Parts: sequence; structure tokens; C-alpha cells
Amino acid sequence: MEQRCRQCQEMKPLRLFPKRKDARNGHRKTCRKCYQGSWRRFDRSVKGKARWLRKDHGYSVGDSLHLASLLLDPYTRCAICGVPRRWLLSQEKRGLHWKGLSVDHIEPAGPSTLTNTRILCRLCNGTRGAKQYTDAAVLHRVSGWYEWRGYARKDLWWLCTSPGVGGLTKLGTKRLHPL
Ligand SMILES: [Zn+2]
Ligand SMILES: [Zn+2]
Repeated sequence: MEQRCRQCQEMKPLRLFPKRKDARNGHRKTCRKCYQGSWRRFDRSVKGKARWLRKDHGYSVGDSLHLASLLLDPYTRCAICGVPRRWLLSQEKRGLHWKGLSVDHIEPAGPSTLTNTRILCRLCNGTRGAKQYTDAAVLHRVSGWYEWRGYARKDLWWLCTSPGVGGLTKLGTKRLHPL
């Protein structure tokens, strides 16, 4: 038994199509590979990220969509160190595996609302972590980390001088506190 995948248009054996109870032949019309690809694309989309923010943190629909679009905006910057998302993405080859930005609860035990939320890079967020360093201590550690990784000062044109303040804003980089 074979069928043609609706997306890639290839003929493939039925077992390569995910099961679906209410389908006539018990399988989806899209092959597994295409189906997973579309989920992956959805996960990376604003709607997908928003869904994840609602599931993991309990943000409202409106807030989650707002935050998701900020998280995916290449010009959104970390509220502590000032790194823009597009710079993080450009450094993937240098091993910055925490590419991208994340949401941080200002008051860790507080509610998932916009007033208790800010956007941090994963490095600042992870550094702040359970130890709850002050923002100044986080910035100090993070800039030390980049130095240790061999980044020159001129590569870090975005780096804030104190938490959320300073750093060049060239190339149309967006404001630091977009919430
Ligand atoms: Zn396919
Ligand atoms: Zn940061």
C-alpha cells in the first residue's frame, strides 16, 4: 500500500504516514517527514512560540502572542546585557548554543503577566538562574564570559555598561524595554 504525500508529492509506503484514527485509511495524507517539518516550522513561528508560552507559563493569549513576536524579532535586545537576537543568531558557528531570547519573570514567584516579564538572552537568564544574582552581577559575569571566550570588545558593540543601559544602538537596534 502506497499513497502520495500531499506536501512533497512523493509516493511512499503507508507505514511512513502518521496514524490518524478518523482518516479513511487510518493514516494522514502528509508523510511523517513533512508532518514533522511542519510542526518544527510551527514551533518556530509566533503562534507556535505563543502556544508554548501559554503551556509552560500560563500567559494569556494576547500576552503570549505579544511576547512571542518580541522573542522572534531580530532587533529585540536582552534587558540586562543588551544583546540583540540577530547578533546571537549570527554567532551560532562560534558555539553559542543558547541562541535566541527567553522570557524572565522579574519576580520569580510572581505571575505570568507583562508587568512581571522581561526578555533576557539565555546566557543572562541562565546566569541569573536559581542564585538570583543582581542584574549588575549578571552583567559582570556575562561580559567576563564573552572575554573568556575570546570575543574582542569591538565584537560586543551592543554590550551594556550597566544593566539595560548603554551599548551601541547602531543599525536600528530596538529599544531595550519593549514591553
Ligand atoms: Zn512528504
Ligand atoms: Zn543578556
